[in-house]
Amino acid sequence: MMSVKCGNCDAYQTIVGFRKLPEKNVYTYECENEICDPNVTRTIVEVPREFDNSTKRAEELPYYSSEEEPEAPPE
Ligand SMILES: [Zn+2]
Repeated sequence: MMSVKCGNCDAYQTIVGFRKLPEKNVYTYECENEICDPNVTRTIVEVPREFDNSTKRAEELPYYSSEEEPEAPPE
């Protein structure tokens, strides 16, 4: 897991979300303090799957959403 530091308040952001997409993993980080509005300073980190070695750990965490992108139904 990488560390994400906020450029506004200079504090480390907390991971609040994790999603798997077909090509990449997407992590969401937010500030957890009174200084920043998460809607302004939220950080989205996209990691190509082949470079991401923290997936296994992320999947064990409660914020993990196992939703995969829905596949288009065959016609
Ligand atoms: Zn901040």
